[in-house]
Amino acid sequence: MAYDEKKLKIIYNKNSGRCEYDKVNLEFENHGKSCVNGAWEVDHSRPVSRGGTDHMDNLVPACYLCNREKANMLASEFKVYIAEKFPNMDDYRQKMRKKHCS
Ligand SMILES: [Zn+2]
Repeated sequence: MAYDEKKLKIIYNKNSGRCEYDKVNLEFENHGKSCVNGAWEVDHSRPVSRGGTDHMDNLVPACYLCNREKANMLASEFKVYIAEKFPNMDDYRQKMRKKHCS
């Protein structure tokens, strides 16, 4: 789905411009881009494939890497997944970059 500028701003500002999951800084202008710094997407907290809607309260900003890795997990499941598998965020980002951007 396409988001207009106003909706994108609201979603981006939900976390003061940080990814919902690894808290990395996002660049507003890099919405929809993939492997550049600050690349981000609109994430469905509850994926559409699992009954999530396009309502604003189901939409959060996520960096490209987290959104790729999250796939069809719920936000709550993904947060547990990260916490359990990747205690170190730098290590997490490095692995995600390798997995999704090379
Ligand atoms: Zn992220």
